Amino acid sequence: MSDMTPRPKPRPSPESLPYWQAAREHQLALPKCDACEKFWFPPSASCPHCLSSQFSFSPVSGLGKVFSHVTFHRVYRAAFTERVPYVVALVELEEGPRLLTNIVGMQAEDVRCDMPVQVCFEDIDADASIPQFKPRESC
Ligand SMILES: [Zn+2]
Repeated sequence: MSDMTPRPKPRPSPESLPYWQAAREHQLALPKCDACEKFWFPPSASCPHCLSSQFSFSPVSGLGKVFSHVTFHRVYRAAFTERVPYVVALVELEEGPRLLTNIVGMQAEDVRCDMPVQVCFEDIDADASIPQFKPRESC
């Protein structure tokens, strides 16, 4: 638990609830299709690859690379006052899907595209944790 002002809690939809439940256990789990065996994100009621509605949330490696990133210098919500500058990034997982997330554990200006990253989790409170990514070197 950080000593910063807590960020807003996630508000899971029925489709994303298993994702957030796994995150609370510090696991990254994404929907994986039973028919074509592909992962996807964000969670939805059917596979975007083959439209099958048979799937289950399965753990992924948590390893990926920075696909794209921006640095926020402006405070849009009070909870982020002590966080600026912070990095919002699209991380491409080894399993394929891209997640909109934060890069933490390094200076914002040092974040680069294609940089190898791995998942880590920020505990907001007893009920919620948010998947984020940090440089793989810092493990
Ligand atoms: Zn499928």
